Amino acid sequence: MITTRFAPSPTGYLHLGHAHAALVAWGRARQAGGRFLLRLEDIDPARCTPHFADAILEDLAWLGLDWDGPVRLQSEHLPEYRAALDGLAGRGLLYPCFCSRADIAREIAASVAAPHGPDGALYPGTCRHRSPDERAARIAAGEPHALRLDIAAATDLAGPLTYIEEAEGELRCDPAQFGDVVLARKDAPASYHLCVTHDDALQGVTLVTRGVDLKPATHLHRLLQALLGWPTPRYAHHALRLGPDGRRLAKRDRAATLRDLRAAGVPPAGVRGLAGFQDTAGSASF
Ligand code: GLU
Repeated sequence: MITTRFAPSPTGYLHLGHAHAALVAWGRARQAGGRFLLRLEDIDPARCTPHFADAILEDLAWLGLDWDGPVRLQSEHLPEYRAALDGLAGRGLLYPCFCSRADIAREIAASVAAPHGPDGALYPGTCRHRSPDERAARIAAGEPHALRLDIAAATDLAGPLTYIEEAEGELRCDPAQFGDVVLARKDAPASYHLCVTHDDALQGVTLVTRGVDLKPATHLHRLLQALLGWPTPRYAHHALRLGPDGRRLAKRDRAATLRDLRAAGVPPAGVRGLAGFQDTAGSASF
């Protein structure tokens, strides 16, 4: 049975881009008689609020979407992410990083050719070389630190990897392009990459539909699946909805929020249409 999900972060009101993503996931599940799950990725305490979480549920219900089972709130599952991190740390794949953003920027500016990945300049590896004694002493002294994946060790261990992108077939993964990514932040107990991969596996998601902006991250998610023994869903990345200026919609685009469209008198079917979803007699399609 097909299981899809929509996994927004409650950092603002949903806009037409989110509506599109939600409708794609919901439509794929409903067309196939499968399950559609809703998950709130609220791991970042500085940016996520209960107000926006409530607003997401209300807006999706207003839009006409229903979901199966309870909504999963990532913030209620921190011990599960901790256990996954411990599993990686136990195999020597993580190291503590004490660098500030400024430290990293300085280091990158000073290097002759800083390699870049999908998320910008790669971490220069400063803390990868610290001795076990220094790490232990700094942690014991309470120094804030992130946990980074030693990408060279991880990719060596996992070997060659592929995943299925629905429209393209089997694609070869290159997770090393991200460098030593952060899997637990100084200010948040786990990163998006770890939590999303963990939850897709735990919740039995078989088809991940999401915006193409997250396609590169799939390389990393596939690596985490291999390291942690989790199953690999199929992926279908879709184009992003663009605003009138041709740029991708963002939370700052007030006019495109479902709230504002609703307040302006646009009915749910009208918003579904604006989000690229055509309601036809008894069924719906893009
Ligand atoms: N929480 C992510 C976001 O709001 C989406 C995660 C995903 O679909 O993989 O951008």
